[in-house]
Amino acid sequence: MRGELQKSRLDRETLKFVKGIGEARAGLLAKELDLRTLRDLLYYFPFRHIDRSHFYSISELSGTEMPAVQIRGWFRRFVTEGEGAKKRLTALFTDGRSAMEVTWFAGITGVLRRLNTEQEYVIFGKPTNYRGTWQMAHPEIEAYDPVKPAEGLRGIYSLTDTMRKRGFSQLVMQKIMASLLANPAMEDLQEALPAEMLQRLRLMPLREAIVNIHTPADVRSLQLATERLKFEELFYLELNILRFARRRSMQTPGRILGRIGEKFNTFYSDVLPFSLTDAQKRVLREIRDDVRRGRQMNRLLQGDVGSGKTLVAFMSMLMAVDNGLQAALMAPTEILARQHGQSLKEWGDAIGVNVRVLTGSTRTRERREIHAGLLDGSVDILVGTHALIEDAVEFKDLGLVVIDEQHRFGVAQRARMWAKAQVPPHVLVMTATPIPRTLAMTVYGDLEVSVIDQLPPGRKPIDTWLRYDDNRMEVDRHIMRELDAGRQAYIVYPLIHENEKLSLKSLEEGLERVRQVFGSKHRIAFVHGQMKPDEKAHQMDLFVSGQARIMVATTVIEVGVNVPNASVMVIENAERFGLSQLHQLRGRVGRGADKSYCILMSKRNIGTDTRKRLSIMTETTDGFLVSEADMKLRGPGDMEGTMQSGLAFNLRVASLTKDGQILERARAEAIRLLDNPAAVPPADAAILNRELTRRFARSVDWSQIS
Ligand code: ADP
Ligand code: MG
Repeated sequence: MRGELQKSRLDRETLKFVKGIGEARAGLLAKELDLRTLRDLLYYFPFRHIDRSHFYSISELSGTEMPAVQIRGWFRRFVTEGEGAKKRLTALFTDGRSAMEVTWFAGITGVLRRLNTEQEYVIFGKPTNYRGTWQMAHPEIEAYDPVKPAEGLRGIYSLTDTMRKRGFSQLVMQKIMASLLANPAMEDLQEALPAEMLQRLRLMPLREAIVNIHTPADVRSLQLATERLKFEELFYLELNILRFARRRSMQTPGRILGRIGEKFNTFYSDVLPFSLTDAQKRVLREIRDDVRRGRQMNRLLQGDVGSGKTLVAFMSMLMAVDNGLQAALMAPTEILARQHGQSLKEWGDAIGVNVRVLTGSTRTRERREIHAGLLDGSVDILVGTHALIEDAVEFKDLGLVVIDEQHRFGVAQRARMWAKAQVPPHVLVMTATPIPRTLAMTVYGDLEVSVIDQLPPGRKPIDTWLRYDDNRMEVDRHIMRELDAGRQAYIVYPLIHENEKLSLKSLEEGLERVRQVFGSKHRIAFVHGQMKPDEKAHQMDLFVSGQARIMVATTVIEVGVNVPNASVMVIENAERFGLSQLHQLRGRVGRGADKSYCILMSKRNIGTDTRKRLSIMTETTDGFLVSEADMKLRGPGDMEGTMQSGLAFNLRVASLTKDGQILERARAEAIRLLDNPAAVPPADAAILNRELTRRFARSVDWSQIS
């Protein structure tokens, strides 16, 4: 294997000998971009493309991902709007048939002086479509020159300032790429996908794709090249994740929870006050099948807020208890641990299952008692925070662990839980983050996924309103009406980590205002992140028990708390929250039989994007739609970063959030191969081995996969 890799000139030869590079530029490429071999440079793809191959007509613009293009035409009508910092200039630009909008947010006086309505111009930039109208902001503009030769469709590379200062420009990079593509070493570039797959999926061959992503022949070839390279990247990502997951699941033994016993059945038929939703039933079946086959379960339980995950978790824990084993539930915060503890205790008491809660603020005496009970087996179910993974906590026989809200617990913490049993316990991870299934399986890698895609019946839809600071009186009146009708309300403030002091101040000012408006009639509870656990718990209890009717809080209540009588969620400075966060918060209401409201408070002066983001919340309560919109709006920002951090390497062309369809196909192909590895022809197996080894720097032998 090694020998074969070294044989390729792409890995062996250094960049300085490529025509047009030389010592100095090779040094910059290595130092600035960490590119050392010919292959490194070949796989350094442009981050965007510009098309100066011809003049586009406006009617020719289409799709969401246009390269930057040039359009020939005339300006008509210049209009200045707004004042001060918000001043902007809009012009109509026509190519003689259709028109589009061109906007400037700065340098307006200069633009007006320089441009006129008689001259024919060429504008150049990335067109975007807003509500059916094509726009271009701050385009490059020059007078149309009929004798200027057409330039091509070109890649734009990410370069550093240091490179630019040393004259290493886009043009230099483009020339270097062209010369690399003509280098004899290119003969050593071997196809990275089996021929049969290329043909069946109609994918562009590798060499052609590499040439076209750097120096596209036309827009269509560029799109095909991009698609092929994305597929390749995601295919090997999936193949790698899946082969490890399969091997682990085959090799890690698990307790056999073979019996559906008395506790489970009694709870189901005598205690449960409602019937399970079909989705809950299906997921319980999946879990049951998983825990009795003798291998360790590693399952992600995904369900929108309020879909009833806690109940599924409890009933799964009963499977362990019915087989003479213990179970544990880990929650990310103390408040949540207590909440879960409360429901589970109630349910457990009814069927003679001993549920205990252990958190950081559990008193020493009780703590000792719990430790003893865990060791002698008298405690069946333990609920707690990460205090659970402290070394002093030892179980007699731990069979199943439930972890609420994965993103707060690292893989390392999960591993510590496993170490608490000779045979690793089954693991169920619960999350309300609604990401598509294939994406979840990729990001969580080694987990199977179960989805509760249905809410319990009888939920009243939540009305979501966007209101501004000057509507405050109206909002207050609404809250008052709900409180007077016996309901409860949350008022949530953002907590910004970089400046906790300041946000605490705004929280306190907010509290003061709430006190003035509602304090004389209704008791107010108050929770923030820097409070002592005891005080937090006390304030929470006031609200849960209904003594306090308003809960003023920072986002510590973000996940999980369950107060069915609460019918109003007011979110202050809503513009500072991400959509998924807003959705999680909204999920705190609408849990009882009454109509509920989520009121997003914002200052009036917000940008178009923010307004769009907030209005999505007012349009849908479906977590998947919210999350999808979030990904689209934020693009490869936060979400992508979070997801990438779960992966073992960086993606070069593909995006986990944007290339969902390609990801699906890539995964299906990887599964097809792994399901029947013996059927893979030796020549194809050699390609797969070589590419896996190259990408993941581990020696792989396909014959060992079967
Ligand atoms: P999640 O943790 O998924 O956000 P919870 O488990 O907190 O949701 O459930 C929300 C509420 O719905 C709880 O009060 C729970 O008792 C109730 N619930 C769960 N399953 C059902 C069901 N099948 N029918 C009616 N109510 C249910
Ligand atoms: Mg929950």
